[in-house]
Amino acid sequence: MVDQKYPRVEINLTYLKENVQEIVSRCRTLGIDIAGVIKGTTGLPRCAQAFADGGVKMIASSRLEQIEDAKCAGIDLPMMMLRVPMISEAKEVVRLTDISLNSEITVLKELNKQAVAQKKKHRVILMADLGDLREGFWDKDEMVRTAIQVEEKFTNLELAGVGTNLGCYGSIEATADKLDELVSIAEKIEEKIGRELTYISGGATTSLPRIIDGDMPKRINLLRVGEGILLARDLDIFYGYDMSYMHQDVYTLKAEVIEVKDKPSHPVGKISIDAFGHRPVYVDRGIRRRALVGIGKVDYGGINEIFPRDKGVKVIGASSDHTILDIQEAERDFKPGDIVEFGINYASMVYVTNCRNVQIVYR
Ligand SMILES: *Cc1c(COP(=O)(O)O)cnc(C)c1O
Repeated sequence: MVDQKYPRVEINLTYLKENVQEIVSRCRTLGIDIAGVIKGTTGLPRCAQAFADGGVKMIASSRLEQIEDAKCAGIDLPMMMLRVPMISEAKEVVRLTDISLNSEITVLKELNKQAVAQKKKHRVILMADLGDLREGFWDKDEMVRTAIQVEEKFTNLELAGVGTNLGCYGSIEATADKLDELVSIAEKIEEKIGRELTYISGGATTSLPRIIDGDMPKRINLLRVGEGILLARDLDIFYGYDMSYMHQDVYTLKAEVIEVKDKPSHPVGKISIDAFGHRPVYVDRGIRRRALVGIGKVDYGGINEIFPRDKGVKVIGASSDHTILDIQEAERDFKPGDIVEFGINYASMVYVTNCRNVQIVYR
């Protein structure tokens, strides 16, 4: 019975592992290691295992809970904390991870203190903000000073390198110029500390175009990739790259039809506000055949984040627990009890993999 439960998200672990292998091998030929980022799939340990099996150098997440789950599941790769740590979680960062991304001296001080207490060496990467305006040092002199301080003063921290993140808040592209800037900062630090840094981490999925186009600056040797492996969708849809060598259907969302009827496409009566307090505009397309499926915004976010796999099926609306499909032009004759399949994107992936109402099924 439990196997028949809907809604569900089916995750093809073989496809996921093959996606990991594809990106890992493309990067390896350029001397670039991959940190497999598991936060998009809510850190599900079996997905983390697929990253490990596919050959990533480390597992990375912005959430310590997910890293703890991966460790408990027996994954023994180095763990990376992606979100610059809260002071209040410094102890757990040192306990659970081997390396973290950082941008504040007070946090680094606390990490060092916790590393001393736990008799551990914790590795840190200092983040440069190159214009995307999320985390990282804006003042590059401050960054160099901090690097020297980590190198010389913090006994239990190891300055592993520098990194940057692009295309998250400021939607700034990871151009070769931007990544060259990061390399110059690294070289300035290397000159001051008199040794080579282990890592120059040139970003996330949004930096993969540099691999594809063949203009990745030579010294970039670590990328932190989630979406480009889990979905391989954004580079295709937003940047026009051919990603057909990747599985773009690792995830399939399935929901059950609970009603099929011909109804007017324009609501009947005095229009006020919908379930979420919005005042939508409805287009009158006459009487249309519609299917209602047992899944809603609570499960996947918004109606523009799920994509029916059947031709001719359109998502026209949803409330918390119901989704309305226009099936007038569908090639299938839907009836209650039928299953509708959807592709998902990053936004709906983080919801459906993190939702108690959605069963997770591995293939
Ligand atoms: C989320 C995140 C990544 C991975 O992003 P994707 O777009 O999923 O590849 C890399 N680095 C940092 C700092 C992140 O927060």
